[in-house]
Amino acid sequence: MNKTKIEWADRTWNPVTGCRHGCEYCYARRIAERFGGGGTGLLLDAAQIAEGSIEIEEPVMREQKSGKLVKAAFPYGFIPTFHRYRLEEPAKMKRPQTIFVVSMGDLFGDWVPTSWIKDVFDACLAAPWHTYMFLTKNPHRYVVLDEMALLPHGDNFWYGTTVTGPNDTWRALEMPRGVHTFWSVEPMMGPVLFPLLPDYVIVGAETGNRKDKVVPEREWIELLSKFAKQSDTPVLWKDNIRKLYPDLPASAPMPGKS
Ligand code: SF4
Repeated sequence: MNKTKIEWADRTWNPVTGCRHGCEYCYARRIAERFGGGGTGLLLDAAQIAEGSIEIEEPVMREQKSGKLVKAAFPYGFIPTFHRYRLEEPAKMKRPQTIFVVSMGDLFGDWVPTSWIKDVFDACLAAPWHTYMFLTKNPHRYVVLDEMALLPHGDNFWYGTTVTGPNDTWRALEMPRGVHTFWSVEPMMGPVLFPLLPDYVIVGAETGNRKDKVVPEREWIELLSKFAKQSDTPVLWKDNIRKLYPDLPASAPMPGKS
């Protein structure tokens, strides 16, 4: 687990990495491709890599330019990979933390085996003093897992989905019931044309220097702010939004957190 500068979490934990959604603005893919490598050809055959169901039991070592050997964070780049040896990390961390689970991929993508997700949930349930934040672009998987009685309902489990603008507000309707939910409006790419339904909303602007980078417009912010007020939904305005619009209302902490 790593400390993080993400404003709504203390740590990121990546027992699974990689993703096939192919978002243009994906920072995780850029990092995985930049710092990836070390695994191909060492443990797996080409068929396993092509299937995209790579499981590794032990860390893979990668040689840096200097010749030094380090643990490879992304031995297979952005190919979905289950780092099974990372499952014990939450239990080893005794101080309660808010943990963003799988920041470098999508744990609930259709390509992820249910057994991987179940193993990750079991590792969380074995360390119940932490708060776990999950985030997906495929929230229907939450619902399917809930129907299978696999989705933990504890107060310390939060299920989020990404809603970047009008093209993906449909995700808001695919969320599970009876659990804590949040939306990540990040990066904000357009107005959210829908009353707010989750327990918490996080809003952030696109980062990096992509050619077609989108800067959130004031009207989008005002609309979301209005919905939040109407539904009494707490909102965390990330610093990069606040820099654009310093007159925004104060950010609210996650419900139940100080
Ligand atoms: S869902 Fe997340 S991890 Fe996957 S491609 Fe999109 S931004 Fe990257």
